[in-house]
Amino acid sequence: MAGTLIVIGGGQAAVSLIAKLRDLGDTRPITLVSEETVPPYQRPPLSKKYLLGEIDLARLLIRPERWYEDHDVTLRLGVRVERIDRAAGCVNLSNGESLTYESLALTTGSTPRRLPLAIGGDLAGVFTVRSLEDVDAMVRDFAPGRSVLVVGGGYIGLEAAAVAAKLGLRVTVLEMADRILQRVAAPATSDFFRALHQDNGVEIRESTALETLIGEQGRVTGARLATGEVIEVDFVVVGIGILPNDGLAEASGLAVDDGILVDAACRTSDPAIVAAGDCARFPLNGGLGRLESVQNAVDQGEAAAESLTGAAIDYRPAPWFWSDQFDVKLQIAGLNTGFETTVTRPGKREGGLSVWYYRGAELLAVDAMNDGATYMIASRLLKAGASPTPEQVADPGLDLKTLLAR
Ligand SMILES: Cc1cc2nc3c(=O)[nH]c(=O)nc-3n(C[C@H](O)[C@H](O)[C@H](O)COP(=O)(O)OP(=O)(O)OC[C@H]3O[C@@H](n4cnc5c(N)ncnc54)[C@H](O)[C@@H]3O)c2cc1C
Repeated sequence: MAGTLIVIGGGQAAVSLIAKLRDLGDTRPITLVSEETVPPYQRPPLSKKYLLGEIDLARLLIRPERWYEDHDVTLRLGVRVERIDRAAGCVNLSNGESLTYESLALTTGSTPRRLPLAIGGDLAGVFTVRSLEDVDAMVRDFAPGRSVLVVGGGYIGLEAAAVAAKLGLRVTVLEMADRILQRVAAPATSDFFRALHQDNGVEIRESTALETLIGEQGRVTGARLATGEVIEVDFVVVGIGILPNDGLAEASGLAVDDGILVDAACRTSDPAIVAAGDCARFPLNGGLGRLESVQNAVDQGEAAAESLTGAAIDYRPAPWFWSDQFDVKLQIAGLNTGFETTVTRPGKREGGLSVWYYRGAELLAVDAMNDGATYMIASRLLKAGASPTPEQVADPGLDLKTLLAR
């Protein structure tokens, strides 16, 4: 149909893009194609409250199913786009159908890295945490008294470890780098979460690589570490990062390099095609970058929608992120990439802490642990481009609110 937009991939970025288009009064026909069999849902609770069994699928859905009908969106679930034929202006689906488009939005997200097959990555009982299906498959294993090995001490691995410990499992976290969260946080934040996990009975093994998983009759039973030690495990959760889903774009001849390359208006190398969310690599801090967060999926999705309506868009994210582990809420404002120094500051609430990241005199980001008030102030400072001095931040007598008034 004339003017048709096809959105490929049904996640947070897709819904944000569609909702924004409709908010802008855009009435073009929209078809959303998702290979998953449920309408778009939020992924963050998968490694938090959903895994703990505290919320159900209905609470995960980004919009109720009828919202799509109400907003004139055709939802095609359980089918995959296999190929984009840009010359013909159509996409080929896994069920043999093809759909024509005038514009396309790629919101294909990302795929978790897996352990190599040669070290047992395909054994039964080895799980990744990306989709509802992944979590539904592992939830039965989260039973008291069982032992889980978590490979990778990043946010997703640590969240899964926290859930497992809360549910009474024996938990070991294996981290190859010399500290957990090394890729994403400063030593002070790693120290905070190491202590939190250890206090809750999780064994944290840093500077320790996995040599191989051991299986019996196709199911994982243990792990041999690079130290030569063998540990028995009932199952394994792998959290070793993600890869952007850019293969479909690449096969259609779009420019791709560790993500689908887009400009600040979310346009790919084909002006009829935009991309947003985990799959997109875009101009960021003077270079190119990807962000793997709800903030980016939502905001870049909206920016892509505006771009589709012809508006001049210059997407500059104000990054934020969060993680829940045990009774700690971590909130992050800004991006700490390239930081040189950090300052820590105790929070008002007992056990609260914030870590402030600087490059020279410039404040880049703040990690706030159980310190929502500091997170709010830090977000406002970063948005305003204001940098309190490290000495001010380090002064426990200074009321941070006074920094906002300046
Ligand atoms: C367990 C977990 C916990 C997280 N916790 C946090 C958190 O606390 N805070 C935070 O900010 N972020 C968190 N994130 C990250 C955040 O959820 C993602 O950044 C966000 O969901 C990305 O949204 P997206 O729309 O770009 O991609 P996705 O949500 O991955 O959606 C992409 C969809 O496209 C589908 N698809 C791909 N290719 C095709 C195709 N060819 N045809 C049809 N469909 C296709 C995929 O199956 C998927 O359904 C977490 C992620 C996970 C997995």
